[in-house]
Amino acid sequence: MSIIISETIAFFCCLMYASFFEWTLHKYLMHTPFWQYPFRAHALVHHGLFRTGAQYFLPDAKVIRKVRFAWWNAPFIIILHTPVILWIQRTLAVDIFAGGLSALILYYFLYEYLHYCMHIPKRRWLETTAWFRWLDSHHHMHHKRHFNNLNVVLPLADIVFGTLIPAKDHMALPDREDGATQVGLLLSES
Ligand SMILES: [Zn+2]
Ligand SMILES: [Zn+2]
Repeated sequence: MSIIISETIAFFCCLMYASFFEWTLHKYLMHTPFWQYPFRAHALVHHGLFRTGAQYFLPDAKVIRKVRFAWWNAPFIIILHTPVILWIQRTLAVDIFAGGLSALILYYFLYEYLHYCMHIPKRRWLETTAWFRWLDSHHHMHHKRHFNNLNVVLPLADIVFGTLIPAKDHMALPDREDGATQVGLLLSES
């Protein structure tokens, strides 16, 4: 198999895998008091500060750091996967490392950036797209029902595991325009 084909297949397989990894991590580490650090940081702090309606948006400039993960989470997750991808590459005897790893890095970046934009509206072009609006509505419902809509980036695992709340049952989203004004004031005062 040519390198381009195997790396491309690996890229898409790893994107799908990342949806299941995100779902599992979110449900079992971030919403279950199994290990105190991720449970506190996410279920108690993030969900305590960010709720639904107008409270979905940044409430105070001082808590802006509670939207993203700590900086070391990205290298930790990526480094954890590196030997596994190398092992699969060796076992299958096809090149998949670059495709697989870049999919995981892209997924992580999308998670952080999309989630940041969801809670911190700033009249970005991205926020006007149908794709973002749908994902935003999906995540807004997660802030209402913590064990549903566990994916932020690709809700594949939510569909497979039956945790997806259909769009027709979503609560109305808070006004993003008002949110951008409110967040703009908070950030300019800080
Ligand atoms: Zn959130
Ligand atoms: Zn959550």
